[in-house]
Amino acid sequence: MPGEFLKVVCDGCGNEQKVYSHSTVRVRCAVCGKTLAVPTGGKARILGARKREGGEGGEAQK
Ligand SMILES: [Zn+2]
Repeated sequence: MPGEFLKVVCDGCGNEQKVYSHSTVRVRCAVCGKTLAVPTGGKARILGARKREGGEGGEAQK
């Protein structure tokens, strides 16, 4: 079953980054290097704030 891309907001700097929900590698923030997701063998554990990707309207711009 394919995963999905989640928009994750970095706790450290607020950078928004796409993270694959079933990532098998540790994902770090491209700006500050903070870990955003860690692999668990199945669904990655998302450490930042998750944002819904491709939401149906009502996307907050900040
Ligand atoms: Zn960051």
